[in-house]
Amino acid sequence: MIEKVLIANRGEIALRIHRACKEMGIATVAVHSEADRDAMAVRLADESVCIGPAPSSQSYLKKSQIIAAAEITGADAVHPGYGFLSENAQFAEMVEAHGLVFIGPTAEHIRTMGDKIAAKQAMIDAGVPVVPGSDGGITSIAQAKKVGKKIGYPVLVKAASGGGGRGMKVAETEKDLENAIKTAKTESLAAFGDDAVYLEKYLGKPRHIEIQIIADTHGNVCHLWERDCSLQRRHQKVMEEAPSPALNHAQREEIGSVVVKAVAKLGYRGAGTMEFLYEDGNFYFIEMNTRLQVEHPVTEMITGIDLVREQIRVADGKKLSFSQEDILLVGHAIECRINAEHPETFIPSPGTITDFHAPGGPDVRLDSAAYAGYRIPPHYDSLIGKLIVHGRTRNECVMRLRRALDEMVVGGVETTLPLHRRLVEAQGVIDGEYDIHWLERFLGLK
Ligand code: ADP
Repeated sequence: MIEKVLIANRGEIALRIHRACKEMGIATVAVHSEADRDAMAVRLADESVCIGPAPSSQSYLKKSQIIAAAEITGADAVHPGYGFLSENAQFAEMVEAHGLVFIGPTAEHIRTMGDKIAAKQAMIDAGVPVVPGSDGGITSIAQAKKVGKKIGYPVLVKAASGGGGRGMKVAETEKDLENAIKTAKTESLAAFGDDAVYLEKYLGKPRHIEIQIIADTHGNVCHLWERDCSLQRRHQKVMEEAPSPALNHAQREEIGSVVVKAVAKLGYRGAGTMEFLYEDGNFYFIEMNTRLQVEHPVTEMITGIDLVREQIRVADGKKLSFSQEDILLVGHAIECRINAEHPETFIPSPGTITDFHAPGGPDVRLDSAAYAGYRIPPHYDSLIGKLIVHGRTRNECVMRLRRALDEMVVGGVETTLPLHRRLVEAQGVIDGEYDIHWLERFLGLK
């Protein structure tokens, strides 16, 4: 039985995991770098261990240090959060080899889904529709040209190991293809240590719609409806909502059941997300994330289910605490990612938060590890917090979000709050009519 969880992460997600553990009566161990001594999760956790200097390569990515911290503190499970080692199959293996529970899927599933070419093949085998593209990786320019002719331009060159919106290059015509492949390969090798790339049809006006799933080790798989994450900049999500304004209930039930069948076929355990592009009424699989997502709270708000709690339960060998029929979809939820960045240039703005006021009131949730006096270290991502709001209808949700954004104060650093305040007044957002390129057009970048 899991009695003490080591949280192998930092920031708001470390705090989020700590909160779920406390509500389950589970003790927590926070690991932190030298730059994160004053972090909220470190203050609140039952125990904490410094695992190295500020750079994540010397701390949050140091597998042996994290495992040593678990052994020293007598933790019996490790929650990796998102980012860092959360999708590192070798880390999952090491955790289990040391007799600890990895709160996530098996190393094998992490490995398969982490290779986007293998993941796409697994989905084709499971009967899930995918974006038309190359059959596996690109082995020569001639082969790429052949694929390009078949699927039609523009095409997207994607890195098999890509993530976080990196390692993607558009080729508008056949003339651009060779260059796009070369650039994508070079970038991918530098960022991910792997230069395998594949081709996909570049969709012109899709939405990004993803399905949250969770599976236990007793053969139960459930979906928790969808999230619409089309509001993106540089392929990175800025604002997310659930349910998607583009789907009706029959459509969401249908894609949900396709996904549940595929996940059951994979024999997957734990939480995961299947990401799709959705265009003209069709879904196309792009990737599966084998971890908790940043945007998981919108799903929690519409279903009332604590996903982290459920992750811990299934990792502990317990059955899911619900079946598909029990999972409600009530009202609407929207999340704003609030970053310490200039709202127009998006240049990171680390520094000390001088004032901090969290909005409150009914159905308002702030997942943040920030506080007045907190110094944002320059070494990590710039997320200060996530503001998540629920309403009985989408309109009520948007009105509440405007009100909550008005109440929120973060002083001393630049933040993206002004951008979110503009977004909730924008017609495309009010109407829910946007595709993955909408935000960049709105920002004048396209
Ligand atoms: P990552 O793992 O880097 O996040 P994804 O495959 O999940 O990469 O894609 C991230 C985003 O890139 C998508 O949400 C979408 O905006 C865009 N994208 C990916 N594939 C395509 C495609 N075939 N056509 C158009 N846009 C795409």
